Amino acid sequence: MPYPPQLEELIKAVEKTRVERVERKKAGKEVPFLSLDERKVMLNHHPDFKEEGRRELKVGPSKGYKIAHEMADLIEAKSRVDPDSIDLSNPDIDTDVLILGAGGAGTSAALLAQEAGAKVTMVTKLRHGDANTMMAEGGIQSATKGEKDSPYYHYLDVMGGGHFTNVPELVEALVTHAPSALHWMENLGVNFSKFPDGRMKSIHGGGTSRKRMHYAADITGAEIMRVLRDEARNRKGIDIVEFSPAVELILNEHGHCAGAVLYNMETEEYVVAKAKAVVMSTGGSGRLHIQGFMTTNHYGATADGIVIAYRAGLQISFLHTVQYHPTGIVFPEQAEGILITEKFRGSGANLVNIDGEQFVNEREPRDVEAAAIVQECTVRSKGVPTPTGKAGIWLDSPMIEMLAGEGTVKREFPGKFILYKRFGIDISKQPMLIYPTLHYQNGGINFDPEGVTTIPGLFAAGEVAGGIHGENRLMGNSLLDIVVFGRIAGKSAADYVANGAKAGALTLEHVRKYNQEMADSGADQGRVSPMLLPDYTNPKVRERQLTSQYVGTIR
Ligand SMILES: Cc1cc2nc3c(=O)[nH]c(=O)nc-3n(C[C@H](O)[C@H](O)[C@H](O)COP(=O)(O)OP(=O)(O)OC[C@H]3O[C@@H](n4cnc5c(N)ncnc54)[C@H](O)[C@@H]3O)c2cc1C
Repeated sequence: MPYPPQLEELIKAVEKTRVERVERKKAGKEVPFLSLDERKVMLNHHPDFKEEGRRELKVGPSKGYKIAHEMADLIEAKSRVDPDSIDLSNPDIDTDVLILGAGGAGTSAALLAQEAGAKVTMVTKLRHGDANTMMAEGGIQSATKGEKDSPYYHYLDVMGGGHFTNVPELVEALVTHAPSALHWMENLGVNFSKFPDGRMKSIHGGGTSRKRMHYAADITGAEIMRVLRDEARNRKGIDIVEFSPAVELILNEHGHCAGAVLYNMETEEYVVAKAKAVVMSTGGSGRLHIQGFMTTNHYGATADGIVIAYRAGLQISFLHTVQYHPTGIVFPEQAEGILITEKFRGSGANLVNIDGEQFVNEREPRDVEAAAIVQECTVRSKGVPTPTGKAGIWLDSPMIEMLAGEGTVKREFPGKFILYKRFGIDISKQPMLIYPTLHYQNGGINFDPEGVTTIPGLFAAGEVAGGIHGENRLMGNSLLDIVVFGRIAGKSAADYVANGAKAGALTLEHVRKYNQEMADSGADQGRVSPMLLPDYTNPKVRERQLTSQYVGTIR
C-alpha cells in the first residue's frame, strides 16, 4: 500500500525543510546533542521509567528484583514438565557440549567447542538460523582502524552508552577481542562491505565517538549467519537438532549442569539430552511485547533461557531495562515493528515531526532517541497520525541521496529499499514513518568474561546474558558480543569437559523445589513456562478452541 493522500500531503512539510537541513548538516551545524542532564530528563519519557511497568520477583535467586511484568509472569510460573514423569535414566542424546540455541552466539560456540575437540550437539527451537542474528541489519562495531580508533575509545563508548552501569570486565573482554573476532569472521568468508582497495567500510552509530561500525550492506546479520551456519553444518562433530527447544535444564547430584529436557515440536515428545557441559545461547525476549510495544524480534524470542536458568539457580541482572529501538516501521501496518536500521541515521537521515522540524540529533544513544520520539508523539502531540490511529515520526531517508549521491539508498540499504518497494514506496524519494519498537533485552543471566556462570558446567553467551551493555546497548555491539562471547563460551565449555567434568546422577530436583517455593510465596497463579512461541490467537477463536491448557500457542 503506497502512502495514502493524507500522508502524501503531510510529507510536503518534510520536503519543505529538507534542503535547509541538508545544508546545515554539510556545514556541520547539527542540532546539538543533549547534555547529560538533559538526557536524564528526556529519559523520563522512556517506557523503562514507568514505575507501574515493573514488579518485584517473589521467588528465586534474584527475589526482590524489579522487572517487567511480562518477564516476571514467565519467571513466576511452573515448569512445563512434571519432574516425576521424565525418565532421566536413559538419555536420548549423550554429548560433551550441549548448545541451547543456534543463533550467532550458539553457532560461534559450537565451532570453537568442536575445534577444541569436544563432541557438540546444538539444539534449537525452530530452524538453524531462525534467530535475531539473521535479522540484524546495521553493523558490527570493532576498533579495527588503528590510526584513529582503539579498544580504549570503544570501551569508553560502550560504558557511556550503558550509563556506566556495565560490568567493566565484560566490556574489556568485548572490546579487546573485537578486532580478532572480525578477522575470524572475514577468514571464514563473511563479505563485509569494502572500498575498492580492500579496506573495510565503517560508519558512525548512535553513541559512537569513532566510525567503527562495519557492515555488509544492510543485511549484516544474515551475512554473518550464512557463513557461521554453513561452517557448522559442514563440520564433522557438530550435530544440529532443529524444532527442539529446551524446556528445562538438568542438573546432576552435585548441582552441576548436565543437560536439558527438550520438546520435539513435531512429535510433541519430550527428549532427554545429557551433556558434560551446556552453553546457554537462547537469545532474547522481544515476543513478550513488553508494555504492548511492537517488536523487531524473531518469532521464537520468548526468554526461555532466562526462565530455565533462573529455575536452576542462576541470578539475573539488568533486566529492569529493555531496549526500544527508536525506529521501527509503524506504517505500512503489514510491516509493523520491523526494524529500520540505525545506519540510516548514521548516514545522515534526520528525524522530523509533523511540522517538518528536526527535534533531536539523530545520533543520540538509543534510549534517549526513543524517549525523544515518544515525547514528540505523546506529550508534544507532534506525531504524524497513521490511517489506523497510531502516531509516528518521519525518518527522512531522501536526505541520504542528497548527502552521498543518487543511488546511495538503493545500494546501501537494499533490504529496506525492496521491502518498501513492495508497498509502492520509494524510500530514496519519500521518508519512512517510524515509532520505537521493542528490540533488545539489555540484561539476562549473570556470567563472567570466560562465559562461566555460577552453576558449574553451565556457560552463557549472547542476548540471553546480562552485564556487557549495562542499562543500554549501543548499536553494533550485540553482533560483536555474540561472536566474542560465543567463541569464549564454546572454548570454555570444551576445556571444562577436557579437564574432567564431574559426573553424577541426573536430577530435576531443582524444578520440584522451585514449584514448592512458588506455592509457598503465593506467586503460583497457574501459569506455565517457558512460553516457546507467542500466542496471537484472536480471543474469539480461542474461546471456541477446546484445548484444556495453553502455554503460548502450544498445549
Ligand atoms: C531486526 C534486528 C536487527 C538487529 N540489528 C543489529 C545490528 O545491526 N547490530 C547489532 O550488533 N545487533 C543487532 N541486533 C541485535 C542482535 O542481532 C541480537 O542481539 C543477536 O544477534 C542475538 O544473538 P543470539 O545468538 O544471542 O540470539 P539469536 O540470534 O536470537 O539466537 C537464539 C536462538 O536460540 C533459539 N532458542 C530460543 N529459545 C530456545 C530454547 N528454549 N531452546 C533452544 N533454542 C532456543 C532461537 O530460536 C534462536 O535460534 C538486531 C536484532 C534484531 C532483531
